[in-house]
Amino acid sequence: MARRKIVAGNWKMNMTPSQAKALCAELKDLVKSEDVDVVYCVPAIDIVPVVEAVKGTNVKVGAENMYFEEKGAYTGEISAAMLVDAGVEYVIIGHSERRDYFKEDDCLLNKKVKKALEAGLIPILCCGETLEQREMGVTMDWIRLQIKSDLAGVTAEQVQGMIIAYEPIWAIGTGKTATTEQAEEVCKGIRMCIEEMYDAQTAEAVRIQYGGSVNAANAAELFAQPNIDGGLVGGASLKADFGKIVNYK
Ligand code: PEP
Repeated sequence: MARRKIVAGNWKMNMTPSQAKALCAELKDLVKSEDVDVVYCVPAIDIVPVVEAVKGTNVKVGAENMYFEEKGAYTGEISAAMLVDAGVEYVIIGHSERRDYFKEDDCLLNKKVKKALEAGLIPILCCGETLEQREMGVTMDWIRLQIKSDLAGVTAEQVQGMIIAYEPIWAIGTGKTATTEQAEEVCKGIRMCIEEMYDAQTAEAVRIQYGGSVNAANAAELFAQPNIDGGLVGGASLKADFGKIVNYK
């Protein structure tokens, strides 16, 4: 069975709650789609108004982060149960900005992935190499290490429902998109890694997005690749162009 495409916006630290509501209203008709799953991953403070704003539409809501502990003295953190109760269905885990600026390592990310799944959230697990790693020729080794560490102890059935986002760090927010061949090569490599770790059925089922300067002009070619099941979109998710990315065909 063909995998359903999924296009998720990562709003990052943009949009106040009132701006978030206005953006949802602006995009409402533009992101309508019968055959693509559409997700807005929004800052924590926007979750409640955005869940309300997208009610009755095809848009689902995601968080940009969460903590793995159940509850307690973790000032500033948000639990998986809080997200679920607020109406969130997806959560980005291991975005390169969190790995880099907030020093989140694979051991922590593995705990977050497991907790998200246990709570019934769909993790969008990010992985990707730096430009230096690409130039050294270790891209796939690095990504395999990330995937294997982040999915340790996760079952095949759980992986089948997950999203993995391949985001070369040098392509995020730079306007420098990976070539279609580069993006497809790594997404295919990730699928092969999942097959090695689990089985062919799991590799066939898991959805793999490409992220890194996706825009209205390059989405169609990227998403047409056999191993690219949609995109994780930063900058272009904050404007009307996001509708063109969702309706890329
Ligand atoms: C991202 O934040 O995940 C991302 C891919 O950003 P951009 O589309 O702006 O490169």
